[in-house]
Amino acid sequence: MGPYKSFQSKTLGNKVLSLTLPPAPHYSVASRLVASLSPGGFYQPFAVWEFQIAPSQTPGQLLVYPMSFGQRFLVLDHWDSMPVGHVHQLALPPAGTRALDLKLHRSGAAGYSSAFYRLQWTSEHERKQKLDQWRRHAVPPIDWFYVELTSQCNLSCSFCPSKHLKRPRTFMSVDDAQTIFSKISQYLRRRDASWGYTLINQMVFLHVMGEPLLHPHLVECVKAAQDAGLKPALFTNATLLTKANIQKIFTADLSHVTISLNVIDQGGYKALGAKDDLSKQHQRVVHLLRERARRGAYHLHVDIQYIVSDGRTVSGTGLVNSRQEAWSCYRNWIGLIQQIEPSEIQPVGHQPVVQLDLLANPLTQDGGDPSLRLPLAVGIDLVMKGGCSFGNSVVPPGMQLVTTHWGRCPFDSPQRQMAIFVDGSVSFCNLDYENSVKLGSLLEQSVEEVWDSPRMQQIRRDMASGILTEPLCRQCLGTLKPST
Ligand code: SF4
Repeated sequence: MGPYKSFQSKTLGNKVLSLTLPPAPHYSVASRLVASLSPGGFYQPFAVWEFQIAPSQTPGQLLVYPMSFGQRFLVLDHWDSMPVGHVHQLALPPAGTRALDLKLHRSGAAGYSSAFYRLQWTSEHERKQKLDQWRRHAVPPIDWFYVELTSQCNLSCSFCPSKHLKRPRTFMSVDDAQTIFSKISQYLRRRDASWGYTLINQMVFLHVMGEPLLHPHLVECVKAAQDAGLKPALFTNATLLTKANIQKIFTADLSHVTISLNVIDQGGYKALGAKDDLSKQHQRVVHLLRERARRGAYHLHVDIQYIVSDGRTVSGTGLVNSRQEAWSCYRNWIGLIQQIEPSEIQPVGHQPVVQLDLLANPLTQDGGDPSLRLPLAVGIDLVMKGGCSFGNSVVPPGMQLVTTHWGRCPFDSPQRQMAIFVDGSVSFCNLDYENSVKLGSLLEQSVEEVWDSPRMQQIRRDMASGILTEPLCRQCLGTLKPST
């Protein structure tokens, strides 16, 4: 029976359990305590916490309130330690978990000691109830919603899989948009929406694939989102920024527009399938910015976006390949923006400054954010976006993809992102351009029913253990290598 014979049995009730720590290693040295939790009798943990304990011979207690397992922390009552441990891994216990094995391993430079606890519920009813509560508390909240108003696009960019789309090219009806926005809004009203004093989660991106300005009822769809208390954000390729559409953007009172220009030269622009000249494209953007200034509508934040291909996994004509190109693009936009007459109503906000480290190399990426921002004016940023290949669905010529079954999403998308397609169906990732995942439909289910479904729980549990369940992620986290 191995180490299991040394398990001490404890009952999980409504009270805090106080568990004795393994003894301190031999000498008075700092020690590390690792607490891991697995379903009774199984080795693989679904939760791991770590504490650092300064030199001490004080025994200490681990305080465990049964529901705290699902809230990412355990409390250590020890004179010489921070009270809360660092969580390394946390997934939901598998369905059918009958008991919990809590293993405490304490190690220091001169020794090692362990304690094992088997935690059991008093009754079957209580077990089911507590696991269900735990499961509901532990479902991560959605931070980002993407709602695709149309799957139609008027361009055919080499780095975008839109031109190969197999699903129907169509438009979301205003009625369906109303239903979806109202469900998102009901969900957001039930979750904690603040970061300190700041509201963080009312933004809804009106895009997965497609060009939203093609939608014949764009203004009505935006209004449906606003009536539901959301802040819709538009992504557009700018080719349809006509006078009438610019008026629509202001009539709809949007708060954010990303203008995906992507390429820096005429050859690249033609290769997107555009019919006119790049200078016309730039002038359309200038018209939008001029109208913004004329109206004093500075609450409309504008991102002007390019794709960086240098050393990354996308290829295409006219993408940004060097820092010289990035700076020349920046200078061009500074010049164009200076042509815009300031309105009588001045923007409220600090004049932006470019951080000095960006001056060295504007293509440098910071942290895990694949986009880099160079401020151009108050509320206007130039964005250099690290090439998005839609999860390796577009493989550059001369390269081949080797998929993998192991890894974790660098963006935590299954924990925080919901993409809703034109037909109401749902994925956990906005890179799922072909809607391969199909978790359910917001036209028939609530946000929680889809987000908390057994399948979604399994996907998250597997990913927490480094297992990629979905072919989408196996492809996305695969590696590109030169084809032989
Ligand atoms: S495809 Fe999977 S791994 Fe890639 S970004 Fe989306 S969720 Fe993450």
